[in-house]
Amino acid sequence: MTRDDCIALDAGDPLRQHRAVFTLPQGVIYLDGNSLGALPRATSAHVRDVIEHQWGEGLIRSWNSAAWIDLARRVGAKVARLIGALPDEVICADSTSVNLFKVLATALRLQSSRPQVSVLERRFIVTEKTNFPTDLYVAEGLIDLLGHKHELKRVDFDEIHAAIDDRTAVVMLTHVNFRTGAMHDMHAITRLAHDAGALAVWDLSHSAGAVPVALNDADADFAIGCGYKYLNGGPGAPAFVFAATRHLRALTGDAYAQPLAGWLGHRAPFDFDLRYQPASSIDRFAVGTPSIVALSALEVGVDTVLTAGPDALRSKSIALTDLFVQLVEQRCGDQGLHLASPRNSAHRGSQICFTHVDAYAVMQALIQRGVIGDFRAPDLLRFGFAPLYVSYVNIWDAVDTLHQVLAHAEWRPAASQVRARVT
Ligand SMILES: *Cc1c(COP(=O)(O)O)cnc(C)c1O
Repeated sequence: MTRDDCIALDAGDPLRQHRAVFTLPQGVIYLDGNSLGALPRATSAHVRDVIEHQWGEGLIRSWNSAAWIDLARRVGAKVARLIGALPDEVICADSTSVNLFKVLATALRLQSSRPQVSVLERRFIVTEKTNFPTDLYVAEGLIDLLGHKHELKRVDFDEIHAAIDDRTAVVMLTHVNFRTGAMHDMHAITRLAHDAGALAVWDLSHSAGAVPVALNDADADFAIGCGYKYLNGGPGAPAFVFAATRHLRALTGDAYAQPLAGWLGHRAPFDFDLRYQPASSIDRFAVGTPSIVALSALEVGVDTVLTAGPDALRSKSIALTDLFVQLVEQRCGDQGLHLASPRNSAHRGSQICFTHVDAYAVMQALIQRGVIGDFRAPDLLRFGFAPLYVSYVNIWDAVDTLHQVLAHAEWRPAASQVRARVT
């Protein structure tokens, strides 16, 4: 494999036209689209229009005339196409953390309302030890709020199957691990959860826009995910939330099943009814007024993924990650790097991690040379490969830079640096 081979791969890449949809700075190889997606060219103009025309001129009329009131559902319906859901099962709202609170509380409520089930007997929320911390915090906070009737059972990646039994209330997992990129088998685990009488809640933060997801095919119960990673919605973009139609139906009589009861979750917000009556649709997972500017940026981001199609994204993602692993091991194999991601591409998402004893300093040195990935404590170099805008020659050049940094110990001066607040 040579740099010219990579140039040839780019020439034959069916997604090569999509790179021009983004503004990427000169001299930067961006391998962090799993943390903050790149800026689509169309976003600035669209957001400017929303601000100057819809807000500036339309003022409050734009809730109707520019259909602001439907925006969270419209963007949700687009996200639904990326995650194998029906258009009216997804809404964009709040952050991933807040949405997790909503769906986890709802799932526990569904469980405790089944007459044959004792909460104390079916008390466990099964999750992965190395889940994204916010998911663990939210679950613990909810358990505390509910008076410690439940317990969070944290197990290793390969212990999930064995941990699910008739004492499991909910299986709460992140589909693709935020550090290693290891991917769970959503179909198998959801089936196992259901066979044991449990519900399955999936966090798709590192999946949506990167790997094909088939929520309804897997019979998933609830899901949530992030708008600013592979969906390119911009920093702090609204997140999304999915609830299966069967649960939306089953919950209609239970006003506070989704406990963040806000006026936009009411069946008729503009009746200003003094009694809360939840919408029977996914709207009940909305709480308060969404940021229209942020949702508008998210819509452009989601469109960039929709135009590519999930299969093309997945094949390129696999090719990029395989190439990266192969080149790093060939060229930097004796430099103290160890692959921390699954070697088999079928078992991972679109990111690759290597451990290194001085991972933070090495990443700082890479970033100074224009190769942007990130560091994840304690010792991980993490590289994300957004197939829409990462090219094969990017991979070659990134590994070449990594090789130089390691071979010439260029990271050493950075080793003494104080860590920034955001790594
Ligand atoms: C990025 C990420 C989040 C982020 O949550 P926010 O509330 O949007 O900050 C949550 N869960 C997982 C698994 C993530 O990867």
